[in-house]
Amino acid sequence: MSTLVIRGGRAWDGLAGLSVETNVALDGDRIEGCGTSLGAARSLDISGCTVVPGLIEGHAHLCFDATPGWRATFDGDTPARMLLRMAGNGRRMLEAGITTVRDLGAPTPLAIELRDAVASGLTEGPRLLVSGAPITTTGGHCWFMGGECDGELGIRKAVRERVKAGVDWIKVMATGGNMTPRTNTFAPQFTVDELRACIEEAHRLRRRVTAHAHGIEGIRVAVEAGVDGIEHCSFTTAGGYEFDQPLIDQIAAKRIVVSPTVSVGFRKWPDDGRREQRGRVLKALLDSNCRVLMSTDCGIPGVPHEALAGGMEVFAEAAGASPVELLRLATSRSADLLGLKDLGTIAPGAIADLLVVEGDPTANLADLDRVRYVLRGGRVVFANPE
Ligand SMILES: [Zn+2]
Repeated sequence: MSTLVIRGGRAWDGLAGLSVETNVALDGDRIEGCGTSLGAARSLDISGCTVVPGLIEGHAHLCFDATPGWRATFDGDTPARMLLRMAGNGRRMLEAGITTVRDLGAPTPLAIELRDAVASGLTEGPRLLVSGAPITTTGGHCWFMGGECDGELGIRKAVRERVKAGVDWIKVMATGGNMTPRTNTFAPQFTVDELRACIEEAHRLRRRVTAHAHGIEGIRVAVEAGVDGIEHCSFTTAGGYEFDQPLIDQIAAKRIVVSPTVSVGFRKWPDDGRREQRGRVLKALLDSNCRVLMSTDCGIPGVPHEALAGGMEVFAEAAGASPVELLRLATSRSADLLGLKDLGTIAPGAIADLLVVEGDPTANLADLDRVRYVLRGGRVVFANPE
């Protein structure tokens, strides 16, 4: 007998082109199957709603507060307060149906404490994959998180320290970033040899490396060095965007995971053609069979942690993609690319991380904001009181 049957609504399995009318039966923390279920100890009526796999955020900063004053907040936090802030942001993401989060930048011990606290049930939150403090150059992008190092020896040591601490991913800043004064967003921070040392050391210790890279030269260096993933991948130059199809083809051929960080923040960009250019890059990445996942860089100014669904809408508009394509990116595709076994689908044996929303997000992505229930590991962890 199933422990719980979710009945009376529609379900979308993370892969199909359409949602279907069906019941979903759970056995403890796993999906038992779909169909007309037999008896169950309990049932959850979701009439008028659709159940989908819990969403996956591929690039988050739980330690940032998403406001223009983020840096003062960051600098003013004690470690204890920052950990509470991170837990609170995680909780809000979970309540928005985001059941798994890859955090790509926070002080290393805090990220690891929170991940382990959630995993052990000490606090409620999304499942976490964490990089800890991004590896950066002296004075480089996000140096204030504690990840400065220089030279091949320095970068090897930085990788070793993180793996010793227990990180899941290695994040390296291949270019500067807009949020760090006195860095250069367009130019590479590390040499190809330094990045190679980083990647070699990470692979020896069975970790994958993802590189923050906005500028086209930084992307080129990261691709040449052989990174496993690229964050942002925005192809910016000082003059705007430079479309580089041969480089995109290389990214596809090398099977590099692309985390494009598309967010509700794009809506506030001035109407100067940048949005269209960025849309062209996104479309080219998808059309060239790059391994793209869904990510928003939430936590940065103007990008609230819980705004993944809004980012998916922006992505769909910018790249001319369908709601189902975006839903796949944020569920089964992200799970696959992040190596998350048994997550991102509704299939027998899969972990029952589920989001129930009113309406049908396979027809209308905005319905993702109409959250009715969130389940994590078969347990209802959030029920909308309305
Ligand atoms: Zn980021």
